[in-house]
Amino acid sequence: MIIKNFINGQYVDPIGDEWIENYCPADGEIYGKIPDSTRDDVEVAYIAAKSAFPSWSATPVEERSRILLNIAETIENNLERLAEAESEDNGKPVKLAKRIDIPRASQNFRFFGHAITQFSSESHETVGKNAINYTLRQPLGVVGCISPWNLPLYLFTWKIAPALAAGNCVVAKPSEITPLTAFMLGEICNDAGLPKGVLNIVHGFGHKAGQAIVEHPDIKAISFTGGTQTGAKIAATAAPLFKKMSLELGGKNPNIIFADCDYEAMIDTTVQSSFSNQGQICLCGSRIFIERPIYDKFKSDFVARIEKLRVGHPNDDHVDIGALVSKDHLEKVLDYVDIAKNEGGKILCGGERFIVKGFDDGYYMNPTVIEVDSDDCRANREEIFGPVVTIMPFDTEEEVLEISNKVDYGLSATIWTNDLSRTMRMSHAIHSGIVWVNTWMLRDLRTPFGGVKNSGVGREGGFEVLRFFTEPKNVCIKY
Ligand code: NAD
Repeated sequence: MIIKNFINGQYVDPIGDEWIENYCPADGEIYGKIPDSTRDDVEVAYIAAKSAFPSWSATPVEERSRILLNIAETIENNLERLAEAESEDNGKPVKLAKRIDIPRASQNFRFFGHAITQFSSESHETVGKNAINYTLRQPLGVVGCISPWNLPLYLFTWKIAPALAAGNCVVAKPSEITPLTAFMLGEICNDAGLPKGVLNIVHGFGHKAGQAIVEHPDIKAISFTGGTQTGAKIAATAAPLFKKMSLELGGKNPNIIFADCDYEAMIDTTVQSSFSNQGQICLCGSRIFIERPIYDKFKSDFVARIEKLRVGHPNDDHVDIGALVSKDHLEKVLDYVDIAKNEGGKILCGGERFIVKGFDDGYYMNPTVIEVDSDDCRANREEIFGPVVTIMPFDTEEEVLEISNKVDYGLSATIWTNDLSRTMRMSHAIHSGIVWVNTWMLRDLRTPFGGVKNSGVGREGGFEVLRFFTEPKNVCIKY
């Protein structure tokens, strides 16, 4: 499989003819190559986007909306193909990609295709001075969208769809680890009638192609999802260039379980919030705090449930947990298990590499539950981003709030309780951009999405992201 850049509506080789090998996580084999793009490729993509901008930004909203809805439908029509590609590239079970990743990619285009028709600006009458102000919301121009490997097409389109809806042209880069569905998106956009040059997709390493997008003096905004360290680097580059930035970064989310919760619903959802997508979702609740009266019961029930999860080849429909995304990532996650052990953590289940028969070099790992007696250990403070959770009892609301808020991250939190007043108190006091009560990852695309502290700056979703991708300009008219 040879993946190419998608520039001005055409698939092209990288100018320098340099390539990166692409690995299949399920068996550890190389199955293709992708462009190792450089500044030169980014420049060609930028020029294509810049040329397309005058026409795209002047295209009536209804027409832009129609094209976005076409893209949504074309993704839907290619569900099977895209899901299989996503799984091959990322290691996630095909059934998960079919149920979550690809439908959501389609929904992203559908949602913003509709949302843009409802997006409006404000006007302010300045009473007593015979003046009226109105605010234009103009597209920014050419914008950069950079996404990670964990939910490849889902997150790539979560940025691209609103950027295009708002009338911008895009230079986008998916993760070099999972380029395949982004590659396929080019053809889908052509089929759906997106004009040439409106979306340009450049593949390659972050420090080369990604850095070139961020450094480009005329790319006006950067929408980035990825690791916190990368986010800091991007911010350091983009801030002196006065670019708009939206940074969606790492998380270390608490899952706080009170004894009065609906136990069965809690435990079902906690299995999901711990290990969906091999625990590689920025929203996974990787620190589980359980109120002491139900701690022992939870511990034995939860571990029994986790031990039943089936790890295996992503094509197998009976599998719950597929492969981790890369060898490096698997090693990083296993290192954290050792770190936890050295810090006194007790491995209740998992903790090891798992060999799937016939796919011995695949990057599999058993889902791992670690009991810790202090929230201060590294396994409880640093983002592991794999199938590893810690569990720990707590006694009071104040105590659990303090330990929940003590980490550097603040993306999401989950609270399980049937006490309404406590729900209100906790939701107000918790340091995170998103709070789920008695549920997890229930998404409504109209809501603001993003984190606080080291989890990021800015909000995606709904009108928030349409505001990000437009520049407000106030016009004051005296009459
Ligand atoms: P990463 O930061 O390594 O890479 C993300 C993207 O940035 C990739 O496309 C990469 O090539 C690019 N990149 C790397 N260096 C760059 C640079 N200097 N300039 C420009 N681009 C650069 O992250 P990852 O390992 O792909 O993804 C995992 C991380 O993403 C985790 O920390 C996870 O929590 C986070 N994440 C956050 C959210 C969210 O919504 N907050 C969602 C998903 C994942």
